[in-house]
Amino acid sequence: MDGPGQRKTQIVVIGGGAGGLELVRRLGAHYGRKRHDIILVERNRTHVWKPLLHEVATGSLDANLDEVGYRSHCHRWGYRYFSGTFEGIDRAAREVILAPLLDDDGTELIARHRIRYDYLVIAVGSVTNDFGIPGVAKNCMVLDDRDGADRFRNRLLNHCLRVSRAMTARGDADEHVRIAIVGGGATGVELAAELYNAAAALRHYGLEVFDESRLQITLIEAGPRILPALPERLAEAATDELEHLGVQVLSDVKVVEARPHVIVTGSGGDIEADLLVWAAGVKAPEFLGGLGLETSRNCQLVVGPTLQTTQDERIFAIGDCCSFTPAGQDRPVPPRAQAAHQMAATAFANLKRLMDGKPLKPFTYHDHGSLVSLSRFSTVGSLMGNLIGGRMAIEGRLARFVYTSLYRMHLVAIHGWLKGLALILVGHVNRIVRPRLKLH
Ligand SMILES: Cc1cc2nc3c(=O)[nH]c(=O)nc-3n(C[C@H](O)[C@H](O)[C@H](O)COP(=O)(O)OP(=O)(O)OC[C@H]3O[C@@H](n4cnc5c(N)ncnc54)[C@H](O)[C@@H]3O)c2cc1C
Repeated sequence: MDGPGQRKTQIVVIGGGAGGLELVRRLGAHYGRKRHDIILVERNRTHVWKPLLHEVATGSLDANLDEVGYRSHCHRWGYRYFSGTFEGIDRAAREVILAPLLDDDGTELIARHRIRYDYLVIAVGSVTNDFGIPGVAKNCMVLDDRDGADRFRNRLLNHCLRVSRAMTARGDADEHVRIAIVGGGATGVELAAELYNAAAALRHYGLEVFDESRLQITLIEAGPRILPALPERLAEAATDELEHLGVQVLSDVKVVEARPHVIVTGSGGDIEADLLVWAAGVKAPEFLGGLGLETSRNCQLVVGPTLQTTQDERIFAIGDCCSFTPAGQDRPVPPRAQAAHQMAATAFANLKRLMDGKPLKPFTYHDHGSLVSLSRFSTVGSLMGNLIGGRMAIEGRLARFVYTSLYRMHLVAIHGWLKGLALILVGHVNRIVRPRLKLH
């Protein structure tokens, strides 16, 4: 029997994204508050599922409707939420170090402080990788978080207003909003298509003379084709669809510099644009390299098959911020929402086994395939699975259905079945009663 002064087992999870939020829900629901203290440390106050960010950026999705407030979520699921930014670990003392909490005007509200842990799970995700290319960090926008998506949307709308105004004032004006997107992976492709969807809707919201023909989008890919993770046939179908919409798709073009409103390419052709977006790859946040744990070339924390970091069995890492290469393979598990979701399940099982003194189970990544949404125009992707005997290319309605199911599964994973299903229903109602675009 535990005595009244007995110290609770403290499990600290850093980062409440696709992996971390699901994990604290499972831990909180299973252990409750009696003998365990489950703590989520997260720098934001609300969670928006990262794969929705391109829709937030174009205004197709109002993040205020889809965000999850950590305070109410923790109250429901029996964990504690600490608003703060993780910056280091004191492994000898088993404490995580949180940066000072500052007010908007820079006033220090809470000084640098520490939280004790018995077990720690790091799930801080990834950031855009600029590969050290000069000028990218300063001149390009990125879709790493809600702030970045909101910033992009505001600037996009300002340029749409500029063009609309110019065309209203002068009948012969031929103005465009020029957008250069670097990176022909899923994020770049989805953003390009979503922009056409949003532009088509703008004329219903007061920009009468604006439509998709006023967009000039250039998608720049360094490799020989866009969507390298998908079969060639699907990448070709996506290229055709994008070009049909009006996107200029450039492959085999390496970017060497970004200047204000200009993407400089190695082949000498500069691309001028009003908005520059960098979506050419991800890496883990650089501060992870200073934690005293083994990291990969991409700053990811290297973990073994049990998802424990190689130098400290009390510290796990999951999702985009960890690097795990399954035995017999030469590439690590890709940074995807489905990997974060699967790792959350294994981390939960292994924390439980570790505390129960049982052997831990190895993580097995099941690649269910990948899907790329070209907004309402098309969806392409490939499904993997034993049932279909390998890889199956899918397009159209079926692909769209599976794509939207991924977010629904995330809702169920973080809210449980009842609330998850209720929110899916509310999402359908919102699509009918809410405006098609978020314009503020
Ligand atoms: C536009 C876009 C589209 C995508 N589309 C898909 C898709 O279709 N399918 C797919 O599988 N994947 C997709 N991805 C990738 C997917 O979003 C990630 O793989 C997934 O979110 C990783 O989950 P995670 O838990 O590791 O990190 P995240 O979901 O990024 O969560 C990390 C959390 O940690 C918090 N955090 C970070 N640093 C700190 C700190 N120092 N202190 C405290 N908190 C911190 C962040 O605020 C965040 O809440 C997409 C990504 C983007 C950007």
